[in-house]
Amino acid sequence: MSITRQWAAKQQRALEILIRLKRLYPDACCTLNYETPVQLLVATILSAQCTDERVNQVTPALFARYPDAAALAGADLEDLERLVRSTGFYRNKAKNIQAACRTLATEYAGKVPKRMEQLLTLPGVARKTANVVLAHAYGINQGVTVDTHVKRLSQRLGLTEQTDPVRIERDLIRLLPQPDWENWSIRLIYHGRAVCKARKPECAVCDLADLCPSAELAPAETKKVNSV
Ligand code: SF4
Repeated sequence: MSITRQWAAKQQRALEILIRLKRLYPDACCTLNYETPVQLLVATILSAQCTDERVNQVTPALFARYPDAAALAGADLEDLERLVRSTGFYRNKAKNIQAACRTLATEYAGKVPKRMEQLLTLPGVARKTANVVLAHAYGINQGVTVDTHVKRLSQRLGLTEQTDPVRIERDLIRLLPQPDWENWSIRLIYHGRAVCKARKPECAVCDLADLCPSAELAPAETKKVNSV
């Protein structure tokens, strides 16, 4: 099969996976709790190496005390560390949150900017965080969020051979329609938590098995899919 046809087949498979994910998780949404773009930015920084559930336990007290960029910029760093401690890497996270909020307060009138290149200048903000904030705070699909679930599932589903998140994102951007970039990630995260778990994927009950080259259940079909 020519490279062009192989790519078209892969794209077709990605679209079918997308359709199924929408059917499987119709109400999927960002699971972090927040009320403003600044709070979403902070919650997303806290979610690094931590579950959204844990972040949601921490943010009510944090945002009650420091509700916006100005308050977080002027917070006592030790108090900030204490409030975010249970999310792990708390010193670094508190430092980044404060530094990012100081930049927001001084350069963006306390608001989160809407451009990727501006967001990437904020301490503690890489493409993953920027994609989440742009998509959920402003409805801007600037890229595909690649977290640990999206990385693992995109690899298992044979949609990328890359290991670096930025390169994985580049592959996914080429395969998926732009309006679906963020909802792809959200739904893949749901599927990663529920079925395609890191240690033991539950291929026997997976609705994507016939489209997945890594499916343990259907070796014959797997071979066929694997070749595209
Ligand atoms: S078939 Fe298995 S490896 Fe493939 S997506 Fe489903 S659970 Fe993951």
